[in-house]
Amino acid sequence: MKTTTQVAVIGGGVVGASVLYHLTKLGWSDVMLLERSELTSGSTWHAAGGFHTLNGDTNMAALQGYTIKLYKELEAITGMSCGLHHVGGVTLADNQDRFDMLVAERAKHRYMGLETEIVGPAEIAKIAPITNLDGIIGGLYDPLDGHLDPSGTTHAYAKAARMGGATIELHTKVLETNPRADGTWDVVTDKGTIHAEHVVNAAGLWAREVAAMAGHYVPLHPMEHQYLITEETPEIYERDVEHPHVMDPAGESYLRQEGRGLCIGFYEQPCRPWAVDGTPWEFGHELLPDNLDKIEDSVAFAFNRFPVLERAGIKSVIHGPFTFAPDGNPLVGPVPGLRNYWSACGVMAGFSQGGGVGLMLAQWMVDGECERDVTAMDVGRYGNWISPGYTRPKVVENYQRRFSVSYPNEELPAARPHRTTPMYEVFSDLGAVWGHQFGLEVVNYFATGDEPTFETPSFRRSNAFDATAREVKNVRQAVGINEVHNFGKFDVTGQNARAWLDRIMAGRIPKVGRLSLTPMLSPKGRLLGDFTVSCLAEDHFRLTASYGAQAIHQRWFDLHVEQGVRVENISDKVNGFQIAGPRARDLLAACTRDPVDLAFLDVRPMVIGQVNTLVQRVSYTGDLGYEIYCDPMDQRQLWQTLWDAGQPMGITPFGMRAMMSLRLDRFFGSWLAEFSPDYTAAETGMDRFISFKKSTDFIGRAAAEAERANPPARILAAFAVDADDADVTAYEPVFIDGTVQGFCTSGGYSHHAGKSIALALIPRAEAHEGRKVQIEILGDLRDATLITTPLFDADGTRMRG
Ligand SMILES: Cc1cc2nc3c(=O)[nH]c(=O)nc-3n(C[C@H](O)[C@H](O)[C@H](O)COP(=O)(O)OP(=O)(O)OC[C@H]3O[C@@H](n4cnc5c(N)ncnc54)[C@H](O)[C@@H]3O)c2cc1C
Repeated sequence: MKTTTQVAVIGGGVVGASVLYHLTKLGWSDVMLLERSELTSGSTWHAAGGFHTLNGDTNMAALQGYTIKLYKELEAITGMSCGLHHVGGVTLADNQDRFDMLVAERAKHRYMGLETEIVGPAEIAKIAPITNLDGIIGGLYDPLDGHLDPSGTTHAYAKAARMGGATIELHTKVLETNPRADGTWDVVTDKGTIHAEHVVNAAGLWAREVAAMAGHYVPLHPMEHQYLITEETPEIYERDVEHPHVMDPAGESYLRQEGRGLCIGFYEQPCRPWAVDGTPWEFGHELLPDNLDKIEDSVAFAFNRFPVLERAGIKSVIHGPFTFAPDGNPLVGPVPGLRNYWSACGVMAGFSQGGGVGLMLAQWMVDGECERDVTAMDVGRYGNWISPGYTRPKVVENYQRRFSVSYPNEELPAARPHRTTPMYEVFSDLGAVWGHQFGLEVVNYFATGDEPTFETPSFRRSNAFDATAREVKNVRQAVGINEVHNFGKFDVTGQNARAWLDRIMAGRIPKVGRLSLTPMLSPKGRLLGDFTVSCLAEDHFRLTASYGAQAIHQRWFDLHVEQGVRVENISDKVNGFQIAGPRARDLLAACTRDPVDLAFLDVRPMVIGQVNTLVQRVSYTGDLGYEIYCDPMDQRQLWQTLWDAGQPMGITPFGMRAMMSLRLDRFFGSWLAEFSPDYTAAETGMDRFISFKKSTDFIGRAAAEAERANPPARILAAFAVDADDADVTAYEPVFIDGTVQGFCTSGGYSHHAGKSIALALIPRAEAHEGRKVQIEILGDLRDATLITTPLFDADGTRMRG
């Protein structure tokens, strides 16, 4: 066994094998895989081997598409068979919401180039004749759906990797991973120690144990899962062609042909977490005891949906565990807080996602960044606040909801509230309807009077509509207040702080007492963040950005930190409020003896009531507004001061629903919608905040300069949409002259203007005032008109005045 390697991949399941292959594909050949037993010795060997592209996250769906198309390439490279059955599959809808969801997915697939199709009951009867169509209103057909041989596929990955120079050590158990001072690792195995530049945790069912060897907690949990294989069935073996897959979300089942019979698996409600206190090392090529009681209701439902099942005897039961993250997406990428330590875990659909996970991780390691936004599967999307006690109920919730309809406005209840600020009870008493972000409770809106304190999940305008309208109106006409807890916040201090920020941020770094907005770019010019930088002193800066991205941002800062600079994540150490609206300055004046003559983008310490604060003159509402930061211990006192003084001015609290409507009036983008690593600064208009004048060679400069010289083909534009009761959420296709030429990044209803608004990326040549397009919302083509004049405060006098 070799004793040094560039990369040690721990785990020879389908994911580890895919990572190994993709590293060699991208040119790293000094890579090795360590497997404690044979390949496929975790959940991989007993998988049903099904694959599909459907995923609520568009980038995940695209990576699933990549994975499925990869199998033919693997077969061609290795000459091995993956046992592919490209039989296609249909997902059934038995109610309007489920059908709406499938129609919305189909719409997304249009610009992704996926050839899915909405089908009616008559077509389903032809595609999947064993289906009882009572109550079925339609479905989504995907010709790419199919299944394969899990073991053959894993071995094909392994062979392709070996052909690229990789080595694979079987029966080699990793016992310890110990970091060296230079960031490399000693990987201690039962066969000796390997000195590795990088370590990848692809240990699947044992990922928690392997992560613990490096001192970190990976938020995943194994769940028990069962599928049945039937005896031979004439309705199946007498067909000329193989029966396609049928996903029946109402019955939480997936079904396909297996040999001359059927295979059906269930995501049952009485599901069970497995190995709560850790995965036993002796677990291997074995199954869990059958538990048909657990799936009794699901089986009864399936008998009705597929009557042939009732007549077909059960040949075998496969009952095994596999892992889930709290949101069901993989946990991939550099582990925050560790150097050269990478995660490739929590992959619950290894045969749909394994290829994409391998490709993304390999790009990250070899190129330093991925070709697309991978936030949905970034291991950094969870922070240090996460614990096994949080993960477990979330994983159970995710398993139970595997086939549930996902609504754009939905807030899932398990393990909440988890993190709250001192305002939680105060806002609850005011009727807060809570959402959550990065474990933190965030007010969506305030219900008043008889309004229910629960937002009905919907693809259409929800019951939050009136409350949101009320809050928007109050901001625009008087003054609104909400918390600034869901901003990621960093303190950057030290003698080199300014020089460092000049290199990390593409924009201008402000002088003392001022703030600026700036994109943070990757070397390839992709957006890594949209930051506000406030200069509190020559050696002290405050950064604010997305709360949910804080661990990802800290990881980027850690990677680039230099002598003479300290970057501290203070997201939860500083809190406060923003006040916005025409009376905001009056409110501030009523609460302080300090002058309130802050100009737009000024930042200044002030005493508000009896609390020391830092006040910034800026507001995402696009209105006259101030952000007021304080010690969370002082927050209730600060609240009382502002709240009491605001009463005669008509102060009301507002939530995120109103905030997201208000920002549309000015066409302001938001993080992970308009601004994400999928896009560049010039595509999204963020290039106006880049300082090409500064002499620093900031990260991404060459790419940004190249874009300036040769503008990108697409650009962000705003549209007024002729919508009815449903607005754009994200990824709806934009038809220009009858063909799909763009897609929406976000949208919603501007309560101030009384208009439905969409932000969309379209060809630059088409982006002119008045351009008529059509946007598909829930299957309807809606007329939309490109607008360039903001709907509120077009000349900026209110915001800047
Ligand atoms: C019943 C069932 C049906 C399923 N059906 C499907 C399906 O139809 N489609 C689909 O896409 N997915 C399906 N899955 C899920 C799929 O099995 C997983 O997504 C996939 O196997 C995850 O692979 P992995 O490589 O991450 O982990 P694993 O397969 O668990 O592999 C981890 C490997 O790491 C090794 N290892 C662990 N610790 C160490 C160590 N310390 N040193 C060395 N080696 C170590 C283990 O021996 C193991 O081989 C199913 C799962 C189950 C249980």
